[in-house]
Amino acid sequence: MESIYNKSFSDLEEYFESIGEKKYKASQVYEWLYGKRVESFDEFTNVKKDVVAKIKEDFSINRLVIEQVEKDVEVHKYLFELPDGNHIEAVLMMHDYGKSLCISSQVGCNMGCKFCESGRLKKVRNLDASEMVLQVLQIEKEINDRISHIVIMGIGEPFDNYDNVIKFVEIVNHAKGLQIGSRHITISTCGLVPKIKEFSSLPYQVNLAISLHAATNEVRNKIMPINKVYPIETLIESIKEYINKTNRRVTFEYIMLEGINDSKEDAINLCNLLKGINCYVNIIPYNETNNIGFKRSKKDTILQFYDIIKRRNIQVTIRREFGSNISAACGQLRAKKESE
Ligand code: SAH
Repeated sequence: MESIYNKSFSDLEEYFESIGEKKYKASQVYEWLYGKRVESFDEFTNVKKDVVAKIKEDFSINRLVIEQVEKDVEVHKYLFELPDGNHIEAVLMMHDYGKSLCISSQVGCNMGCKFCESGRLKKVRNLDASEMVLQVLQIEKEINDRISHIVIMGIGEPFDNYDNVIKFVEIVNHAKGLQIGSRHITISTCGLVPKIKEFSSLPYQVNLAISLHAATNEVRNKIMPINKVYPIETLIESIKEYINKTNRRVTFEYIMLEGINDSKEDAINLCNLLKGINCYVNIIPYNETNNIGFKRSKKDTILQFYDIIKRRNIQVTIRREFGSNISAACGQLRAKKESE
């Protein structure tokens, strides 16, 4: 049965019209689900009994089960068990500007990035919108507080599950839903060009982050198979188009992998590639995992890389590290669980 949390506001309006009820009932339902946060249809006290009975016939009002939590002062890592027994992860980070939640969009991932733990376990299935919404709802309940920012950077490639991810954004962004501002939502992609183009035409002001990780095809081909399908020229062209259309700044993520993409020359190539693009670069110290063999670049190498970019007047930051000591590198908890 479909989860009620899978319904966007307009889906619910359509639903009520289709069963001969007034559209405004969608408002009432959203108020119960996201305002009052009830967990049973029986608590819909302002909705007629026969309508509640009909809703019960058509939808479930499930929650996700938190199976495991690892906590540090500034980061909590959650392992969820889905109704079909699959596992996904979400990571909560406490910033000075609020609480940000990194959610999963798929069970596993098919992009096969060589350095990534999530990709070692192939995609089992997409998450539907409800399974993304419920990661947020369940963790807000757990911490008894509101999440201010969402990043779709957990397990999975969001643009390989485009429709569900966009519906999720619609639900969490909705004024009667979770009310998280679109500028507080970031989607991170390894570069599925057709979807970047589609995304350019959406009315949302959602942030776009690109996992670039290399400035030449030679290097990128070695670590990210997707680059053989959409090489750097094609990717950059689609991003320029996105910026032209939306007038928004793009974030480029760049993981520092020792001896692979962290030389002076790599930094200069990166600057040349990004010259004139309205962007900012987020340098990410690689989270080493046990199973893959890539090494994190040395601190000095990272600083040298940062300096080169900074001196060329491209905005750049080195990502603050969260939770590398509690297996917060993406996909690690799930990988551990699956190998048990
Ligand atoms: N598939 C999407 C979103 C999930 S990955 C994407 O590729 O953007 C989120 C980010 O974490 C990506 O930039 C990814 O390359 C990076 N990442 C993966 N494994 C990592 C690790 N061990 N340490 C640091 N970053 C990692």
